[in-house]
Amino acid sequence: MDEFIEKAARTILGSQLTIALTGAGISVESGIPDFRSKGGLWDRFDPEEYASIYAFQDDPEKVWRMLKEMEQIVDNARPNTAHTGLAELEKMGLLKSVLTQNVDNLHQEAGSQDVIEYHGNSKSFTCLWCNKKYDYEDKRGEYPPRCECGNILKPDVIFFGESIPPLAMVRSSQLASTCQALLIIGTSAVVSPFNILPRQAKQVGATIIEINLEKTVLTDSITDIFLQGKATEQISQVVSAVKALQSA
Ligand code: NAD
Ligand code: ZN
Repeated sequence: MDEFIEKAARTILGSQLTIALTGAGISVESGIPDFRSKGGLWDRFDPEEYASIYAFQDDPEKVWRMLKEMEQIVDNARPNTAHTGLAELEKMGLLKSVLTQNVDNLHQEAGSQDVIEYHGNSKSFTCLWCNKKYDYEDKRGEYPPRCECGNILKPDVIFFGESIPPLAMVRSSQLASTCQALLIIGTSAVVSPFNILPRQAKQVGATIIEINLEKTVLTDSITDIFLQGKATEQISQVVSAVKALQSA
């Protein structure tokens, strides 16, 4: 067994409260590009320009050109073994919650029960004009989807310039400040205020286990165990190691 994988597995087994923080990188192997992928969606649609609430308010049709492509990619994506590995840890009683920045619903599809969506979800819409809400399925095929009042609907994802859903903010902060181990997977940890959470956990003495293809701003500052590689492979190995240690 790899030394660092074993260390991670032992940390999870010895922790009274473990949470996972995830970012776009966990869904890359499901076919959803992160902000850094070359030649992908984000090369054509600068997130700063297209994913801000001001851009949406100014020109919702323009922003919907990006949203439509994102929607098609998300529609075709299925959970990968990193998502299912986290769901398995939760079922085993070894992971309390997943706090995700993703809006793709893949943690829920993988079977995770306690998912805190920090940046909302793309599977429902709200009218910014009259506040009426719609399910994604009710508006399937409509482009851009419109409210009965005639205005273009906005998906319930948090755009730059919008505030984090209050309940997600409060629960995340509570969990981060009481956890004993924190897994942080596939996030560059630069988007605020999500990036405060690992530091909050570190302050209360939690062990930080980071999984990423490459080093991030966290790796040399607060990470205790760095598992470098693909999320699918690293999580599968951690889950196998946990099981092996449990049955030893
Ligand atoms: P990011 O694009 O800034 O960073 C992604 C990180 O994942 C990078 O550090 C990269 O090295 C790592 N990574 C890429 N592929 C990986 C793999 N196979 N295994 C392990 N690590 C891998 O993403 P972010 O930090 O999540 O911030 C971007 C913001 O945009 C967030 O709000 C995010 O939710 C949103 N976003 C969401 C989706 C989605 O819902 N799937 C997709 C793109 C962007
Ligand atoms: Zn309306």
